Amino acid sequence: MPFSPEIPEDHAFLAQAIELSRHALEDEGKTPFGALVVIDGEVIATGTSSVIELRDPTAHAEVMALRAAGSKLGRHLLEGAVMYSSSEPCPMCLVACYWAHVSRLVYAATSHDVAVNGFEDFQYYRELTAPNSERTLLEEVSVDGETRKIAAAALASWADKMPFPVEPKL
Ligand SMILES: [Zn+2]
Repeated sequence: MPFSPEIPEDHAFLAQAIELSRHALEDEGKTPFGALVVIDGEVIATGTSSVIELRDPTAHAEVMALRAAGSKLGRHLLEGAVMYSSSEPCPMCLVACYWAHVSRLVYAATSHDVAVNGFEDFQYYRELTAPNSERTLLEEVSVDGETRKIAAAALASWADKMPFPVEPKL
């Protein structure tokens, strides 16, 4: 595992995530991915890929697990949580783990294994390292000038309303 040394319980939790991924074989509208959010050795929430079922392109297993964990715990930040995933998260789910302040990520199959079976994760990881001009999302446009100033002012107005000084995170 690339992020930290394995610990004995990793295998048991990964086995649960993999079992969740197998639901796709029986449940219509699922794709073969499963994830668990674990805090202090307790499974807080699980997620399965529900993109087709919910008609939601963001309803990946890890995102579903984060949503369920947030709902159960009544908070969106999950410091101390471990995300166990049946396979290496796609870029969106990886960043969702960052947004949630998940402390550790452990996965079983790799992006290569996922790609071999027809999913685009690997391509999207490659895409993110390509210059904008070479990406397949051809309408990715950033404007300068007045429009940017108006949008940036909306951000600054929000920051000014905070009860504490907002720290730039550049
Ligand atoms: Zn994903």
